[in-house]
Amino acid sequence: MKPARQYRVIPIFIPQQACPFRCSYCNQFAIAGQASVPTPEEARETIESHLATIPAEAEKRIAFFGGSFTGMSLEEQETYLAVTKPYVESGLVSGIQLSTRPDYINFDVLQLLKQYHVTLIELGAQSLDDDVLRQVGRGHTVAQVREASRMIKEAGFSLGLQMMIGLPGDTREKSLRTAELICELGASCTRIYPTLVVKNTLLAAQYRQGLYQPLSLETAVEWCKDLYQYFTEHGVTILRMGLHPSEGLLSGTDYLAGPFHVSFKELVLTALWRDRLAEIVAAADETPVVVRVPASEINYAVGYQSANKKAFPGVRFEVE
Ligand code: SF4
Repeated sequence: MKPARQYRVIPIFIPQQACPFRCSYCNQFAIAGQASVPTPEEARETIESHLATIPAEAEKRIAFFGGSFTGMSLEEQETYLAVTKPYVESGLVSGIQLSTRPDYINFDVLQLLKQYHVTLIELGAQSLDDDVLRQVGRGHTVAQVREASRMIKEAGFSLGLQMMIGLPGDTREKSLRTAELICELGASCTRIYPTLVVKNTLLAAQYRQGLYQPLSLETAVEWCKDLYQYFTEHGVTILRMGLHPSEGLLSGTDYLAGPFHVSFKELVLTALWRDRLAEIVAAADETPVVVRVPASEINYAVGYQSANKKAFPGVRFEVE
């Protein structure tokens, strides 16, 4: 399992700024864990406070997360980008990245982002199945994701395509097909978010009416095992699996149901190692079975809360 390339991110959350959509699963204020939109001055303070704590030698990128950055007017985008530009030009950070919707990509936007040293554009594709997109009211189609991806790549940016699993209408096969298309479209990175039922969303109402059932944690881990293997085999970096544990999710103020776990990625990698260990043990002639593991993988091999160590008492782990 290849580790993702490491760099430190300085996050600036811009929640639901200029977003006229209401995707059925989204209460953007709850997910981002904050309701107010930062002023450019606050964005600058955020960058400075992160720079003060990140080691100087670490590669750093500034990332605009939260809403749909390019949904703002070009002038508003430029206000934020003018704050971040000097940090790139002085070499303090290596680039700017942002997330947005596929239907908010056009020639003028890409020109602006290029001028301000944006290097990576992540699109919330969520699913590359038109029926799923329709059911959650995303307001764009798979064709629009394809077109935006093509434009981003042709303009020389790195492309990220984020996906969700377990949305209404989604299946394990559809989630794999989404992963295949993400690779075909030339994404260098992805994020995988299991769908949670967040309070004050349309999905919450559908859940309460029995019209939607989220994936269990176990099922979400199983689906993500396939996706992890597929993306890893195809050289696509998984920047994240599972939502950031915001205060509202941790306390339950925003969370209603669904496969939330603070260590979701660890659960997936533990499950992958469990499968691998089962094969090794089945093929071994004698015990103890010595399994040599790279240092970066040892926690996953032993498993979340030592789950694999307990499940395979005849295995002795050695760090390579
Ligand atoms: S998911 Fe994104 S596009 Fe959809 S409502 Fe939330 S912020 Fe808007």
